Amino acid sequence: MKRLKYFFIFLLILSFQLLAQRNSYVILISFDGFRYDYANRGITPNIDKMKKEGVSASSFQPCFPSKTFPNHQSIITGMYIENHGIIANKFEDPFTKEHYRLGKKSTTQSKWYLGEPFWETAERNGIKTASFYWPGSELDLKYRRPTYVKHYNQNFPYYARVDTIAKWLQMPNPIRPHFITLYYSLTDTYGHRFGPNSKEMNFAISRVDSVLGYLFDKVKKIGMKDSVNFILVSDHGMTDISPKRVVNYEKILNGLKYKTEAGGPFLLITPAKGEKEKIYKRLKTNEDHYKVYTKENIPKYFHYSKNPFIPEVIVIADLGWELVNNKSLKEFKAHPMKGDHGFDNHQLNMHGIFFALGPNFKKGYKTGTIRNIDVYPLLCKIFNIPPHAGIDGKLERIGYILK
Ligand SMILES: [Zn+2]
Repeated sequence: MKRLKYFFIFLLILSFQLLAQRNSYVILISFDGFRYDYANRGITPNIDKMKKEGVSASSFQPCFPSKTFPNHQSIITGMYIENHGIIANKFEDPFTKEHYRLGKKSTTQSKWYLGEPFWETAERNGIKTASFYWPGSELDLKYRRPTYVKHYNQNFPYYARVDTIAKWLQMPNPIRPHFITLYYSLTDTYGHRFGPNSKEMNFAISRVDSVLGYLFDKVKKIGMKDSVNFILVSDHGMTDISPKRVVNYEKILNGLKYKTEAGGPFLLITPAKGEKEKIYKRLKTNEDHYKVYTKENIPKYFHYSKNPFIPEVIVIADLGWELVNNKSLKEFKAHPMKGDHGFDNHQLNMHGIFFALGPNFKKGYKTGTIRNIDVYPLLCKIFNIPPHAGIDGKLERIGYILK
């Protein structure tokens, strides 16, 4: 009899625990290109609230290359770029000659995406998920995307995105999403156009911070303030560039045969047959304001060699320098962009932000740099579900921020 009593107490505790994890909520927000220090300008009262009442990291390290689609995938899959396969915003499958390209159907084709996004892991474990945008969330296979997913429209009103999230959170429990992503591109657009230190940049920073405030208010109004965790991140930082700081690789490689992808902060070169040594040597001899690597000798800390789609030669510009050809130099001079990203991911200016607030997080806890690949295992821990095998992120590097 006594044994039976203990058994029932045990069952009761277990069901409370299961209930608790089913009652976890996370809203993962991304402000594109929000550099680590934008939140230290005294113009972000809502981020300041997260710092005061939650967890703040001094910076959030992206993977190389510090570009948008590759890093949103790293955040949501917990994998290095060479492993999840989105090796740049634009690249070629050298076997089929097909291209992955932003703004094209290819970004919805599942075959390019080798990682398992967190929403897929969650749904497999019976947790409903939703996305009001996240680069790479609109895949063509149903089980690889959130239950509720919006088709990307950059101009969709900012506050209305939050209103939809509030509606999702008020759905009946069996169909209510517990993990939701939210994304805004404004800070990236302004960073490129006006530069990270412009007054226009500060306008964009204030604007997205006010949306964050609106989200906090909305969640409070529907009575869910104490059950929702907010995690605010960005995919990369931004640095000043100038037409005065350029390296014209077309001039350097004059007479050699090759194809390129990317350009600007980094360049991917596929040499024509038999040209690899010559191209590498030519670039190595002229190495000034950039570093040239082959797939074999690129330092391990870039985690950028394993994938078969990564071309043979990789060139990384020094921070603030741009790799150009004759055509792109002309365009750059005619319409100068003021900021860019994609550089060495260890450069602090390429780092983004990480703030977290909610019932699962420590209060007023300040920590150093967090790596973006560690968010996925953190999410698994919050929902108490097993992470996908083969991830690169590690809970032991981030778990200490939880209560
Ligand atoms: Zn971005």
